[in-house]
Amino acid sequence: MKVEDGVRDVVVIGSGPAGLTAAIYTARATLSPLVVEGEPSSTSDQPGGQLMLTTEVENYPGFVEGILGPELMATMRAQAARFGAELLTTRVTRVDLSERPFGVWFADPGSGGEKQVRARSVIVSTGARSLMLGVEGELELLGHGVSTCATCDGFFFRGQDIAVVGGGDSALEEALFLTKFAESVTVVHRRNELRASKIMQERAFANQKIRFLWDSVVTAVEGQSKVERIRLHNVVTGAEEALEVTGVFVAIGHAPSSELFKGQLDLDDNGYIRTRPGSTATNVEGVFACGDVQDHVYRQAITAAGSGCMAAIDVERWLES
Ligand code: NAP
Repeated sequence: MKVEDGVRDVVVIGSGPAGLTAAIYTARATLSPLVVEGEPSSTSDQPGGQLMLTTEVENYPGFVEGILGPELMATMRAQAARFGAELLTTRVTRVDLSERPFGVWFADPGSGGEKQVRARSVIVSTGARSLMLGVEGELELLGHGVSTCATCDGFFFRGQDIAVVGGGDSALEEALFLTKFAESVTVVHRRNELRASKIMQERAFANQKIRFLWDSVVTAVEGQSKVERIRLHNVVTGAEEALEVTGVFVAIGHAPSSELFKGQLDLDDNGYIRTRPGSTATNVEGVFACGDVQDHVYRQAITAAGSGCMAAIDVERWLES
């Protein structure tokens, strides 16, 4: 099998905007990248990162009227494939960055076991994932009224009363999207001030279907076989209340997917991969990181794509040297 024979010049791990941009650039540089793109998850039937869970993307340059997140990712994937990137729909199970060429193991869906590929260089673009509240009932009812993806699940909540937890751009984006389906959307936020950008706040405040519950934390999600209500605690007054909703969208932020690299790459206190300023180089020569797994500041599709381009150019120069 091609991917097992010989040593690849570059293996890209992850297939969000960062990984696919790195794939496009390294493919055009005739490095024949292998992209281990991940696998479908409980929140998306395709790999492709967080944009698979997004609706309209209005701020990615080049699309006057905006583009749907999944459509943007499908386009980037096709563009990478057009230039010869090889895409494997599976997940990396472990890496060995201590020996050269580097070792990358991935799950083999056929045998249920593992396969290995060796690479002169590795681009890490594993992104970040949704944080969960960690309260009783949340995981039990995930997919039964609890969701982290309005795009995927909004349709199922037509005419219903639902809650969105969080006060950032994600929470308001989800809330606004959900008003297309829901009867009412209650944004539950733990403070009395939103973290979201002003333009998103203005849109949310202007929407008749959205109301806000301030200073409130969710203490439990309840329901027999699907969500029936959430329990709330007011952190200022101490009051407890139940909110009758049939859907709960958790939108409280993200964590970097860097577990595979613990002990091998330098990570910061929050688990983000450390890269050299002005470069995508990690502490291991020949291993480069791009996108949200190394960026807790900008976290945009366009900055991820930009850093994917940087990683590809860094790899190209490193291989040449
Ligand atoms: P975020 O900005 O980190 O916001 C997370 C929100 O969840 C905060 O309001 C936070 O409360 C709250 N939260 C965190 N942990 C919680 C917990 N355990 N219980 C209750 N609430 C909790 O994350 P994000 O909204 O996912 O956005 C991430 C980045 O992507 C941001 O830079 C954002 O601007 C960007 N983004 C942009 C767009 C867009 O432009 N269309 C859309 C989505 C995201 P506190 O405020 O009290 O900390």
